[in-house]
Amino acid sequence: MTLSQLPDLLPPPSPKRIAALATELAELAPIQDGTELERLSKDFYAYSPVLSPLLAPCRAQLAVKVERLEQVRRVASACARLKVPLTLRGAGTGNYGQCVPLQGGLVLDLTGLKQLRSLDPESGEIVAEPGCLLADLDRQLAPQGRALRLAPSTYRTASLGGFIAGGAGGIGSLRWGFLRDPGNLLGLEVMTVEPEPRLVHLDASASGALNHAYGTNGILTALRLPTCAAVAWQQLVLGFDDWNQALAALQGLAASALLLNNVALLEAPVAACMPWPLGCPSSAGGEHRLLLLAAPESLASHPDLLAAWGGRLLWQEPQAAHRGLPLRELCWNHTTLHWRGQQPDWTYLQLLLPPDPRPLLTALRQRWGDGLLWHLEAVRQHGEVRLSGLPLLHYAGPAALAALIDQCRDLGALVFDPHQITVEEGGLGGIDPAQVAAKALYDPSGLLNPGKLRGWLQRPASDRPS
Ligand SMILES: Cc1cc2nc3c(=O)[nH]c(=O)nc-3n(C[C@H](O)[C@H](O)[C@H](O)COP(=O)(O)OP(=O)(O)OC[C@H]3O[C@@H](n4cnc5c(N)ncnc54)[C@H](O)[C@@H]3O)c2cc1C
Repeated sequence: MTLSQLPDLLPPPSPKRIAALATELAELAPIQDGTELERLSKDFYAYSPVLSPLLAPCRAQLAVKVERLEQVRRVASACARLKVPLTLRGAGTGNYGQCVPLQGGLVLDLTGLKQLRSLDPESGEIVAEPGCLLADLDRQLAPQGRALRLAPSTYRTASLGGFIAGGAGGIGSLRWGFLRDPGNLLGLEVMTVEPEPRLVHLDASASGALNHAYGTNGILTALRLPTCAAVAWQQLVLGFDDWNQALAALQGLAASALLLNNVALLEAPVAACMPWPLGCPSSAGGEHRLLLLAAPESLASHPDLLAAWGGRLLWQEPQAAHRGLPLRELCWNHTTLHWRGQQPDWTYLQLLLPPDPRPLLTALRQRWGDGLLWHLEAVRQHGEVRLSGLPLLHYAGPAALAALIDQCRDLGALVFDPHQITVEEGGLGGIDPAQVAAKALYDPSGLLNPGKLRGWLQRPASDRPS
């Protein structure tokens, strides 16, 4: 695929229009060139050898950083009046090129909008601005004994707005499911992109259309979320000589009533490449490793379980006391990060495996051999324990990648294809009419993150302004 194959992707605005925008936003000190503009035009799409060449030439023509709601309003109004594409940006850690401006224009960095506006002591609900970093939010919640339910492994660097608009789940997904599951987002404050921008307040049900929409259908200026009771998680690393026993332990632990926040399984060659936390023995390559975030009492009360699965405890330390790399940063897409640090010609996929994953695991191993290595994460989807797969694969070109994706689908996996740029192909599976309808309401000129919402690009002529 090339960018030109996306219908309706217009050329970037003329330098004259950009100059007019820069003049209008002069008080916000717009960035118009240099390495900072380059940095603000990129995210972590380099994990994909398909997206890399496609997105490398994409640049914003202007970038602005805001700290107050009024400044967001000025930017939204100016872009709407001058018809300049507007791409929203949190910390820029997305893997799908979510905040790369395909059509030039302005990038709006929202990390300065970072107030925790309220914490309800009864319900634990919070209202927070999108630029809050997730770890900072948790630090503010901790004195009240509360914590965020869900976090990506980029917890230390990612923003709340970017997680809701661009992320899917991660640490905590074993307990709370995915971000789009009902109950994980309770409301939004949204700024529209119009000459006279409106500030709209959405309840949980109306917010669903903007959850995981890549910032294509409204500027999130505040988010209402549930929190959970904070737990002093223990980090544990378990070793297994046998893959099937390790898999049984992963599934058994995930289905147990033990209080666990994350369970990941790394196949031995992957485990051998990880930068294990200080004090944890490094892996010589012979053993598969299970990584656990567990409530302090959970495993100690069942020493028999581990022995029954043929595993052994290699390391344990409280998350809070630990200095250096937390275990969380060997999970989810951090595993991919560390692996690719040593094997840059490898890439990855994101899958939700069928309820019985064994036939798929066996068939893929038979077909792809050592060119595909397993990294599994236990999650809960619609109340059921399932395995999410982030296999690492040696990249052998687009045809082999397409064949692998087809095979995964044939074997019953849902594929969240990290080599695609649209919301729909990256994970949603199909067009969500509610997302498109929200864009018509909150971004009627289609200026937000152009090219990322296929449903908008393909809307019928009757839905377009004449
Ligand atoms: C090593 C690594 C590990 C990762 N692990 C995980 C993981 O475990 N789980 C997971 O879900 N993701 C993961 N990711 C992807 C990414 O880190 C997360 O999704 C993260 O939450 C994105 O936050 P951000 O602030 O960086 O968002 P950005 O990348 O800045 O933005 C993401 C999307 O949100 C939009 N956006 C940003 N702010 C707003 C706003 N205020 N209003 C509307 N739209 C907005 C942007 O336009 C973009 O489309 C990982 C990435 C890396 C590199």
